[in-house]
Amino acid sequence: MKNSAIITGITGQDGAYLAQLLLKKNYKVYGIVRRSSLDPLSRLEFLKIKNKINYINLDLTEYLKIIEIIKKVKPKYFFNLAAQSFVTYAYDNPIYTDQINNQSVINILEAIRQFSKKTKFYQASSSEMYGYNIRNQKKLNENSYFNPISPYSIAKLSAYHYVRMYRNSFNMFASNGILFNHESPLRGEQFVTKKIVKALTRIKFNKKKDSLKLGNIYSRRDWGHAKDYVEMMYKVLNYKEADDFVISSEKQFSIKEFINLVCKKLNMPIKWKGKGFNEKALNNKNKVIIEISKKFFRPLDVVYLLGDSSKAKKKLGWRPKKDISPLIDDMINFEINNLDE
Ligand code: NAP
Repeated sequence: MKNSAIITGITGQDGAYLAQLLLKKNYKVYGIVRRSSLDPLSRLEFLKIKNKINYINLDLTEYLKIIEIIKKVKPKYFFNLAAQSFVTYAYDNPIYTDQINNQSVINILEAIRQFSKKTKFYQASSSEMYGYNIRNQKKLNENSYFNPISPYSIAKLSAYHYVRMYRNSFNMFASNGILFNHESPLRGEQFVTKKIVKALTRIKFNKKKDSLKLGNIYSRRDWGHAKDYVEMMYKVLNYKEADDFVISSEKQFSIKEFINLVCKKLNMPIKWKGKGFNEKALNNKNKVIIEISKKFFRPLDVVYLLGDSSKAKKKLGWRPKKDISPLIDDMINFEINNLDE
């Protein structure tokens, strides 16, 4: 009989790539999907695995249903990737964000404890939990100080502690992957890297006439490729014991540097002018193609994220295959192939 794995958030970026990986490894994959008026399975269709998954229609707020599913399937692995994952949205919806990103995690852990104690649990924790780097830590690792500043990261940090509590108090195999930003062609449309690559590719090919509006382009992030990061999720649950691991590229770029790299690859020279809210990027015909808009600033921004994955490298033997350059290539190629959509 095949081993089984449940993935929440299977319709998202990481869920789709993780499902692909587990199918390749011959797992029976169960994917939790919530109702939507649009087709939520587009990423799985793109990866050509749409018909290979056992779908369970359910929202994470359906606590009793989740318990029922865990009781019935008793999976070998439970990957909890579902989340209200957009930090800016969380400021307007803190209660909902806490319900999905924290309380539903407790519900899953409790169900595993009561009905399927052998299930190994992976929690998608986030580098956003480090928040304001008030201790000026250069590289952030598993022992660094957490100082979350958004409803998203506060909920994620609470869930992170619950995972540790269930591991330590009930001897459960429950692990956190503390992931730094990871992108791919399948990244959600609201996220800044996707916004930049999509808009600039469309501007380059005359499919977009207006300018791209962005928030703080001086935030610094540590970006990896989602395909590399889901391999690590699998390794975390296959490690000899449950533990917490930072996963990062260990390289840092500002959003402005990311834009410059994308323009270079698109062979689209730009120049920057002005400061603050008046800063703009112009193309070689002096047309404004990027503008700064207050609308896209977070109430409080995490301005510095740089991870240290030494522990994952040492203990899991994990190595990312793609750095920022092939990541941007993948994202641009996807946009070029989808210019008419
Ligand atoms: P994503 O593309 O936004 O996917 C989020 C997934 O959660 C989607 O499948 C979404 O379903 C599902 N979901 C949201 N609310 C739900 C609910 N109430 N019930 C059931 N499912 C629900 O996120 P991602 O980039 O793949 O990230 C995966 C996980 O890693 C998330 O927990 C995220 O917070 C965390 N994380 C991501 C990053 C990153 O850089 N990508 C970094 C650190 C941590 P719909 O398709 O219906 O919306």
